[in-house]
Amino acid sequence: MSMEDYDFLFKIVLIGNAGVGKTCLVRRFTQGLFPPGQGATIGVDFMIKTVEINGEKVKLQIWDTAGQERFRSITQSYYRSANALILTYDITCEESFRCLPEWLREIEQYASNKVITVLVGNKIDLAERREVSQQRAEEFSEAQDMYYLETSAKESDNVEKLFLDLACRLISEA
Ligand code: GDP
Ligand code: MG
Repeated sequence: MSMEDYDFLFKIVLIGNAGVGKTCLVRRFTQGLFPPGQGATIGVDFMIKTVEINGEKVKLQIWDTAGQERFRSITQSYYRSANALILTYDITCEESFRCLPEWLREIEQYASNKVITVLVGNKIDLAERREVSQQRAEEFSEAQDMYYLETSAKESDNVEKLFLDLACRLISEA
């Protein structure tokens, strides 16, 4: 497949507090890996994965924040031209959920008003350490008109679904 051989190209950007598992989600989806321990930073701006949906080749350009997660240090250039945002928190970390409104303010300030935002609660394999209930997250995402999904980058739970559902929605709104 040549570089130009696709029907759709979408830019997807991951945001959310440091440590919630953004890099692991990208790695799991693009490489099928869960990196052990530290050193999960990819070290490049984005990863590419092309998927096929209903016979259409969809090229996904997935941007990871590479350790710049502090509010206001990610500038407009990062959000610019994003077709979709994956706003991630860690279901075992109340703090990562409580920061979501600040991330939403950044989205409002910097992202396109047509951007599709998905709320992702990651690390569901750590259910015994859960601090954020599914119901709370559902209520929050409904109020903000966001699609919501829980994942485990470690166990590969819902990771394919996250990106494929998002690609489907992007196609339907393209
Ligand atoms: P980032 O800062 O948001 O990019 O987070 P990382 O992807 O670097 O992950 C932070 C830590 O959480 C690492 O120690 C990962 O191994 C761990 N982690 C990420 N995703 C999961 C998951 O789904 N389950 C579990 N148990 N740990 C995870
Ligand atoms: Mg990271």
